Amino acid sequence: MSADTGPLVVVGGGLAGAKAVEAARAAGFGGEVVLVGAEPHLPYERPPLSKDYLMGKAPFEDAVVHDEGWYAAHQVDLRRGVTVTALDLERHEVRIGAESLRYERLLLATGAVPRRLAMADSSGAPVAYLRSVDDSDRLRAALRPEARIVVVGGGWIGLEVAAAARNAGAQVTVVEPLELPLLRVLGPEVARIFAALHRSQGVDLRLATSMEGVAAAGAGAAVRLGDGSTLEADLVVVGIGVVPDTALASEAGLEVDNGIVVDEHLRTSHPDVFAAGDVASAWHPLLRQRVRVEHWDNAVEQGTAAGRNLAGESVAYDRMPYFFTDQYDLGMEYVGHVGAQGYDAVVVRGEPSAGSDPFTAFWLREGRVLAGMQANDWDATDAIRALVGRSVDVPSLQDTSVPLSELADGA
Ligand SMILES: Cc1cc2nc3c(=O)[nH]c(=O)nc-3n(C[C@H](O)[C@H](O)[C@H](O)COP(=O)(O)OP(=O)(O)OC[C@H]3O[C@@H](n4cnc5c(N)ncnc54)[C@H](O)[C@@H]3O)c2cc1C
Repeated sequence: MSADTGPLVVVGGGLAGAKAVEAARAAGFGGEVVLVGAEPHLPYERPPLSKDYLMGKAPFEDAVVHDEGWYAAHQVDLRRGVTVTALDLERHEVRIGAESLRYERLLLATGAVPRRLAMADSSGAPVAYLRSVDDSDRLRAALRPEARIVVVGGGWIGLEVAAAARNAGAQVTVVEPLELPLLRVLGPEVARIFAALHRSQGVDLRLATSMEGVAAAGAGAAVRLGDGSTLEADLVVVGIGVVPDTALASEAGLEVDNGIVVDEHLRTSHPDVFAAGDVASAWHPLLRQRVRVEHWDNAVEQGTAAGRNLAGESVAYDRMPYFFTDQYDLGMEYVGHVGAQGYDAVVVRGEPSAGSDPFTAFWLREGRVLAGMQANDWDATDAIRALVGRSVDVPSLQDTSVPLSELADGA
C-alpha cells in the first residue's frame, strides 16, 4: 500500500485502537486515518480504573493514551461518542447511523464488555460492573468507609475492586464459586497466596459458594448464597469476566469463535480487515494455537502490530501473553500461557506470606516453563521472559541459591 492511499478506519477507541493509529503514522502512512470510538472520552487505559484512579489517587489525564492535540497533530480524525452500526465487507464501508465511511483497510478493536449476571440486573438492587471510566466514577462514589460491598467473582477485577474498597475503609465480601480466587488462572499453589493476602487485609472470602439470588432491600441488597447464608450489601459489584464485542464482525460474516478469528498477522477472514486487542482470537505462531488475551500489554502490542500492517507492513505477532496486577502492596507481573493442557509442576521461589514479600513462581510441563510470574521482585521479569518456553533443570529452578539470571543465561 503506498503512503497516500486509504482511508484506514479503526473501529474502537480503546487502547488497541489508539496504538494502531499511532503505529500506522509511525510506519509512514500518509493517507487519511479515522478512529471511531463509542465512548465520549479520549482513548484511555483501563488498568487504573480498578486501582489508582478508583482510589482517587490519580487523575483521568494520567490514563489517556494521547492528549487531544496528538490526534490533530497526527491528522487522525478521532470521532468520539460515535458507534459503528454495521460493516459491509463487499463495499468496504462501515456505517455510522445513516452515514457511510469507506475504508481501504479496517481494524476492528472493539474490545470486550462485562459478562452480565441476569439475576442481578433484574433484581432492582444496586449493582455495578466495571469497564469504563464512568463505571469507575460511579463505583468510587460508593466506596465509603463502612459501606458494605459484596463482590461477585474472585478474578482480577473482583480482587482489585476488593483491594480498592478496603483502601476506602469499606467492608468487603468476595463470593467465588471455586475453592480459591484466581484458581483457574494461577492454580491452587499460587491462588492461595492471593487468598491469604486478601484475608490478611480483612476481606471476607466466601469460597466454593455462589450467589443464588439477590433482591432489593431498602436502598441496598440482600444477597443469598448457595451455602444458605445471606449478606446485606449497599452495593453488589459483579466481576465475572468479559465477552468479546464481536457483533459487527459476526453480522458482517467474518469468522468468529470466542473472538474475531485472525491469523498471526492479525488479519481476519477478509484480507482487508484486521482485529486486535481483547476482541481478537489470534493464531500464536510460538504457542501453535489461537489465543485471545484480555490484557493491557496485548492491547498495546497487538494494536501496534495491527497499525503497522494496516500501513502495509507484514508484522507477525508472536509476543508471549503478559499481564500485571496491583493489590494492596503486592505488584505482580505474569508472562506466558499455561493453556488447556495444564501444567504438571509449580516451582515457587521465595517465602510468600500474606504481605508484600517478593517471590517468583513458574508453571512447567515436562520440564518446560509454560509461564512465570514475579511478585514485588521487579528485577526478575527479564529472566522470567527468557525462561518461558524453555526447558530447565527443575532442581536448579527450585534452588533459590541459583540466581534466576544464571538459569536464564543457561537456558
Ligand atoms: C477495570 C479494569 C482493570 C484492568 N486492569 C488490568 C491490569 O491490571 N493488567 C492488565 O494487563 N490488564 C488490565 N485490564 C485489561 C485491559 O484494560 C484490556 O485488555 C484493554 O483495555 C483492552 O483494550 P482494547 O482496546 O482491546 O479494548 P477496550 O479497552 O475494550 O476498547 C474498545 C473500545 O471500542 C469501543 N467500541 C466497541 N464497539 C464499537 C463500535 N461498534 N463503534 C465504536 N466503538 C466501539 C468500546 O466502547 C471501547 O471504548 C483491565 C481492564 C479493566 C476493565
